[in-house]
Amino acid sequence: MTVTAIRPDGSREQLGAAVLEDLRAHLRGPVTAPDGADATTEPRVAWNAMHTERPSISTRCTGTADVVDAVGFAREHGLLVGVRGGGHSVAGLSSVADGMLIDLSLMRGVQVDPHRRLAHVQGGALLGDIDRETQAFGLATPLGRVSETGVAGLTLGGGYGHLDTRYGLACDNLVEAQVVLADGRVVTASAEQNPDLFWALRGGGGNFGIVTSFTFRLHPVGPMVAFAGVFYPLEELGRIERGWRSYVLEAPREVTSFIVTTTFPADPDMPDVIHDRPVAIVGAVHCGDVDAGMATLQPLRELGAPLFDMSQPMPYTAVQSAFDPFFPRQTLRAYWKSQYLDELTDDAIDAIAARAANRPSPRSLTNTFHFGGAVHDLGPEETAFAERSAPFMVSFDSMWTDPADDASAIAWTRSAWQEMTRYGNGMPFLNFTGLDDEPLDANVASAFGRNLRRLGKVKAEYDPENFFRLNNNVRPSP
Ligand SMILES: Cc1cc2nc3c(=O)[nH]c(=O)nc-3n(C[C@H](O)[C@H](O)[C@H](O)COP(=O)(O)OP(=O)(O)OC[C@H]3O[C@@H](n4cnc5c(N)ncnc54)[C@H](O)[C@@H]3O)c2cc1C
Repeated sequence: MTVTAIRPDGSREQLGAAVLEDLRAHLRGPVTAPDGADATTEPRVAWNAMHTERPSISTRCTGTADVVDAVGFAREHGLLVGVRGGGHSVAGLSSVADGMLIDLSLMRGVQVDPHRRLAHVQGGALLGDIDRETQAFGLATPLGRVSETGVAGLTLGGGYGHLDTRYGLACDNLVEAQVVLADGRVVTASAEQNPDLFWALRGGGGNFGIVTSFTFRLHPVGPMVAFAGVFYPLEELGRIERGWRSYVLEAPREVTSFIVTTTFPADPDMPDVIHDRPVAIVGAVHCGDVDAGMATLQPLRELGAPLFDMSQPMPYTAVQSAFDPFFPRQTLRAYWKSQYLDELTDDAIDAIAARAANRPSPRSLTNTFHFGGAVHDLGPEETAFAERSAPFMVSFDSMWTDPADDASAIAWTRSAWQEMTRYGNGMPFLNFTGLDDEPLDANVASAFGRNLRRLGKVKAEYDPENFFRLNNNVRPSP
């Protein structure tokens, strides 16, 4: 059977049975194509239910050698390639319609070197894979807040999480990466080897090659940490967020905190008082001494009269997966957009509160994040990740289930984001950005700022033909 696959210019390549057979003979992992062979093994599905695009061919690689062969095959046949780590791209950047998907979901290995405090992590690992292994040694590296998110996309796009104020972004803790380039070469990127590529990988996204292995620096964390999770009535958000602002600006580096607004479902494991009730949840983690941490977080529990307070010392791994139920895979349609704020003024808070009261669906969120400490220790040009000074970021996350609501849900996020430009600096966080809200180029230029030029040069050196283009794409510019 012949399989048709698309090229980047939209033309189509016919792949005969012998060609696919040859690919299968080379790869250890399964190859799925409409010819039916290996059809029982599908790639990891995309998180956003809006992204159901199907590739013509997908390969589930088992290691670097498979990735090299898959890249070689796509290059030889001129195919449009998508690369999938965790599949959590909100914009669907790891989905490819009719092209070739290189899926890393079988590459989840994590090896901890406790003496050197390093973790070697394969390119398809999820955050929970790392936390599980590193916590066995009382260690952790900064990652994100939902355990099913892919390490690769999160790290390459920066990576905020519960440890960032103390230990920096995920990408700041990357010490080495193994990368399969568009021409099939396998290179190491570190401070010593290919330092320009290493610089670009720390924030520049999936533009430069497929990372098959990450090496992260580890820190002593847990096994218990102090956690605050305080549910206030949404109507009081204005007052709560003003108090929170004062707190976080003075808080020690061990504290990372945010406020999320949502409508909690009628979960029998949660108290009735918050069932189907719009709430503002103040969340925080203190990653140092647990008792001192609980005392430090206490003011966040007294910003008003909580409906429910689940603050307590918690295992770090439990904290890392506490928000998973909000974000089931391939269930919610999603469109998110975020913006940094140099100052969280009263007017900005009132605007956020008004939008939070007017969310398009119960599962939609507004988030206000605080950043500082180690995130700001690096300058904007020390890594490709350029935003190193804004103390706040607001994200409007539409999430809904009925395709008939697509337009209204997307419109809510866009209009809230637009209003926020009065208070923010206009710079988006690319990992939280939905597609098609503006030309992708505009978002990329805004997010990378002065780093875009250097990224273009690195792209020209490592991927001059823009083979890796399904990402927050940087054009090669020698
Ligand atoms: C529910 C949810 C929670 C989130 N929480 C956080 C959070 O707490 N903090 C945060 O910073 N971000 C968070 N994000 C954003 C997240 O970091 C990005 O969506 C990120 O891109 C996800 O990575 P992934 O590997 O799962 O994505 P994928 O969809 O697999 O890929 C995203 C991009 O990375 C490329 N890519 C994937 N794997 C590789 C690889 N091995 N080598 C090279 N390129 C690759 C893809 O081609 C694509 O362009 C969250 C997203 C969701 C949906």
